Amino acid sequence: MTSEVMPSYGRADLAFERGEGAHLFSTDGKRYLDFAAGVAVNALGHNHPRLVQALTEQGAKLWHVSNLYKIPEQEELASRLVSASFADTAFFCNSGAEAVEAGLKLVRKYQAETGHPERYRIISFDSSFHGRTLSTIAAAKNAAHVAGFGPMPDGFDQVPFGNLNELRNAITSETAGIIVEPIQGEGGIRPSNSEFLKGLREACDEFGLLLFFDEVQTGIGRAGQLFAYQNFGLEPDVMSLAKGLGGGFPVGACLATEKAAVGITPGTHGSTFGGNPLAMAVANTVLDVLQDDGFLAGVREMGELLFARMVKFSSENPGAFEDVRGAGMMIGLKCIPPAGEFVAACRDAGLLTVPAGDNVMRLLPPLIIDETHIAECVEIMGQAWKAVSS
Ligand SMILES: *Cc1c(COP(=O)(O)O)cnc(C)c1O
Repeated sequence: MTSEVMPSYGRADLAFERGEGAHLFSTDGKRYLDFAAGVAVNALGHNHPRLVQALTEQGAKLWHVSNLYKIPEQEELASRLVSASFADTAFFCNSGAEAVEAGLKLVRKYQAETGHPERYRIISFDSSFHGRTLSTIAAAKNAAHVAGFGPMPDGFDQVPFGNLNELRNAITSETAGIIVEPIQGEGGIRPSNSEFLKGLREACDEFGLLLFFDEVQTGIGRAGQLFAYQNFGLEPDVMSLAKGLGGGFPVGACLATEKAAVGITPGTHGSTFGGNPLAMAVANTVLDVLQDDGFLAGVREMGELLFARMVKFSSENPGAFEDVRGAGMMIGLKCIPPAGEFVAACRDAGLLTVPAGDNVMRLLPPLIIDETHIAECVEIMGQAWKAVSS
């Protein structure tokens, strides 16, 4: 079948017509356990009754008015994100790359506004991913993403993830800030540790830089806390969110301290669609569920169980994985065979996962899973491994 959709993706020959919790049903009637969750987006799974209700109720009232006017649902979400985090203020947009872009602009503006317009460069890390706009690919410097799209916007210096010596060596009188994923997602679920992140915090404080955590993938419960930075005992100055925030409705946010956002005044940044009532109604409901008593504790408990089951699977099936890593419900299985083959075999057997860098197969289940889903995952993965290893 030919397609008029621009061929920018390598798609599986598979389409879905319906979803229910952690399961998807394909157009040809097969049932799949969805441990891809739309790449860490469907935080509450598919067809969650409270999200359906929020979207349909708002859909019957008001969709969009623009940021020429006050949007009460935006005020509400901002105030809730702020009171749940280090931040004092929130900007809303529609995607992860836009949330990162807002943060990058905010970092530069902070320096310009506080007497250091010469500080415009931002330090980033290898194997990172921040989106597909020109500045976000310039930050991540992934060769496959930048090829043919040059020249890249200037202003990004990259150092090895986890290396504090090289980080400190890369700081110059032109450095404005540091952007980092507290746990690298697309790069292959590469976790950092408290010592590394504390080192970044100290360097930022020492040199007057802003620390920017890209939590587009790790945020909204994915790493077991509402925000992954809460696992590490320190706070950034700026944070981008998106993926899980709308549970499947496109929405992004850039959070910052009042100090960091000092340069953001009327007219300095904007988005036509950003923070519209539909997106806000859904995101507020995602937060309602995540802030229910015991929800995040349950995510941590099930995340630990899934992790333990994967470690067990790995030791019972030598030859499958050489490493099991991650936090909460973002688990990376570094494969011994090509990860793409494993992902395809899992899909054929009825389990959806996501490939990542470093030959990793990612498990990013919806945060609502229980023991039965984990048992189903182990069972299907066993069938997939048989197919891969035979
Ligand atoms: C997915 C992702 C992005 C980009 O999000 P889009 O919505 O695709 O623009 C940015 N940063 C991180 C860490 C991500 O995982």
